[in-house]
Amino acid sequence: MSEGERVAAVARLLGERELDALLVSGPANVRYLSNYTGSNGLALIASTESARPHLFLTDFRYATQAEQQVPGCLEREISTGDLLESVCLQLRGWEGGDAQDGGQRRAARRLGFDDAHLTVAQHRRLGDLLEGASWELEPCGGLVESLREIKDPEELRRIGAAAQLADEALRAVLERGLAGRSEREVAIALELQMRRLGAEGPSFPAIVAAGAHGALPHAEPRDAQIPVGVLVTIDWGATLDGYCSDCTRTFAVGHADGLAREVYELVLAAQRTGLDALRAGRSGREVDADARAVIERAGYGEQFGHGLGHGVGIEVHEAPRLSRTAPEEQLVRAGTVVTVEPGVYLPGRVGVRIEDLVSVTAEGCRVLNGLSKELTVLD
Ligand code: ZN
Ligand code: ZN
Repeated sequence: MSEGERVAAVARLLGERELDALLVSGPANVRYLSNYTGSNGLALIASTESARPHLFLTDFRYATQAEQQVPGCLEREISTGDLLESVCLQLRGWEGGDAQDGGQRRAARRLGFDDAHLTVAQHRRLGDLLEGASWELEPCGGLVESLREIKDPEELRRIGAAAQLADEALRAVLERGLAGRSEREVAIALELQMRRLGAEGPSFPAIVAAGAHGALPHAEPRDAQIPVGVLVTIDWGATLDGYCSDCTRTFAVGHADGLAREVYELVLAAQRTGLDALRAGRSGREVDADARAVIERAGYGEQFGHGLGHGVGIEVHEAPRLSRTAPEEQLVRAGTVVTVEPGVYLPGRVGVRIEDLVSVTAEGCRVLNGLSKELTVLD
């Protein structure tokens, strides 16, 4: 899907919601609609009904980059000052043409904004800049995100390529084993290897957590050496061509004791149940509940304190969510890319998480990463 088709889809959605325009400020949303990768860029999408041009605004530092990246469906404006001020000047200009209709003043126009991204200060400023103009501000978070949820074939290809690159990087890093290396050293080697293989960077700071440290779901890698006889959880991903991957594997170093094996097999069973439960048309809550039930039946329900999974795309965490707290009516749609990542965390003792990145289809799902999930014992 070209940026032009994406912009047109947003313009149609605005009409359905009786909005005249949408101010897009979230960097991932801006990128999705304009292909622009710099910072300080805004898009102003006009509703189909308004028949106004769509705009992309940035400042002079990014003029050349915008010229190279932003397609013709968006008129480029290089602002000499504050972008919000430039946007509001444009919006005030809308009024001149048709403010009067048979002597009657037109009802207020409605401007949607990314309420998940615009700061409170920016929102206030927008209100000040439009003071006295016939524009009302309407929170519109999730509008562009709902389009981003469904990946087209090119996006699926990029996410799959990012997942394969991340796999390859970890395979290379694990050739030297884990025992005696520090968590930090392994994390750095992994990030470096992903860059060497062509990634723009890691999609988030890699997690390498050994033993009891693995019982912290978002553990930060430490300088401590990884001993023999522990599990090590590695959660990592690459960004390639603007798209993220996300995967977790838990390995045994040297050998694994009975408890570690028991928890590992339980999480693996829950993860496989989650994959089997996932297909278009089911709700994120149902899929989470199916996988969670496996862990609850074994008595470890309290130790699985996070959601089963999340959407992945331009951002490593995006819509939809597979979770107990996801909206009940939110159904997983075909073309979505999500993670399936149950975990069990026993504080002070052991932690296991196993995460696959999958693309959802009408019949089920396709796993995009390729490393084995059988408990692997490394040196
Ligand atoms: Zn992850
Ligand atoms: Zn994840």
